[in-house]
Amino acid sequence: MTKDFFIALSQNKLLNKGAKRWGLKLGAQSVVAGTNIDEMINSVKDLNQLGISATIDNLGEFVFEEKEAIEAKEQILEVIEAIHKEQVDAHISLKPTQLGLDISYQFCLENLREIVHAAYQYDIFINFDMEDYGHLHPSFDLIDELSKEYDNIGTVIQAYFFESDENIKKYKDFRLRIVKGAYKEPDHLAMQGKSDIDKNYLKLIEYHLLHGKFTSIATHDHHVINHVKKFVKQNNIPSNKFEFQMLYGFRKEMQLELAKEGFNFCTYVPFGHDWYGYFMRRLAERPQNLQLVSKQVFNK
Ligand code: FAD
Repeated sequence: MTKDFFIALSQNKLLNKGAKRWGLKLGAQSVVAGTNIDEMINSVKDLNQLGISATIDNLGEFVFEEKEAIEAKEQILEVIEAIHKEQVDAHISLKPTQLGLDISYQFCLENLREIVHAAYQYDIFINFDMEDYGHLHPSFDLIDELSKEYDNIGTVIQAYFFESDENIKKYKDFRLRIVKGAYKEPDHLAMQGKSDIDKNYLKLIEYHLLHGKFTSIATHDHHVINHVKKFVKQNNIPSNKFEFQMLYGFRKEMQLELAKEGFNFCTYVPFGHDWYGYFMRRLAERPQNLQLVSKQVFNK
């Protein structure tokens, strides 16, 4: 019930639009690394000093106007320039709907091509985040098309989808982030029970660790992390074949601990004015995050 409530809030267009004018509110500043590039780069530098790399998300999704998609593209191009200029250890995560996938496939493809090309010049990796099921196949099509020209792209496999077993095989030669899945999906497309999802999640991670190019294990779940630690040891998976990822502001001590233990660790660093949908999805995943929020709100 709480999950549905926050997912519904995350998709509310009026609130999404309004929040862009508010600045970071409701405690979002604990999980969003600022509203501009300078603030974000400072946060990335702090992480790098701790031995942690970053994947940078210029927040935004479900864009329906060309002007907005072009602005998003320009901002991401600026982030690429900033990564190069500041020589930070970071790459980009983006969402195809932010670059116009709901406007037209071709328009989105051209925006993405420009971004991937600019990043390619500087050897910067671009991750295509995966959104809801309605955008899954168009996003894979974009990746298929662009990977004919560029090898600096990868994507996400969401374990709750029944079809993820096929997709992980199809995309085994890509650098993949593997997640449980964050959106509300119908039961004919996606598993609904936590234990089924967790089981499939481990299966996909193990497959990609053994057969894939590079695996980003993106989770805050210590059971999964402990399982992976044992699995890589037992199967002699070299440390340059995988990394752990967590979201900015979550389980900070564990992030640091994993980096100190010598594992590659990458923090997902969201920034920008369009923080609202992202923030509500985090509350949907784990209502306990509200504690984090109330601390921020009342400590003012
Ligand atoms: P959960 O199943 O939420 O939690 C399992 C257990 O871990 C909990 O019961 C608790 O014991 C512990 N735990 C979890 N969080 C905490 C915490 N904050 N503090 C203390 N204990 C905790 N989803 C997509 O659909 N598409 C994407 O592109 C995408 N990209 C992502 C990128 C990153 C870096 C990460 C971390 C997640 C991403 N997700 C994405 C979200 C993902 O699909 C899950 O919804 C989200 O990560 C919650 O699942 P979990 O694996 O972290 O653990």
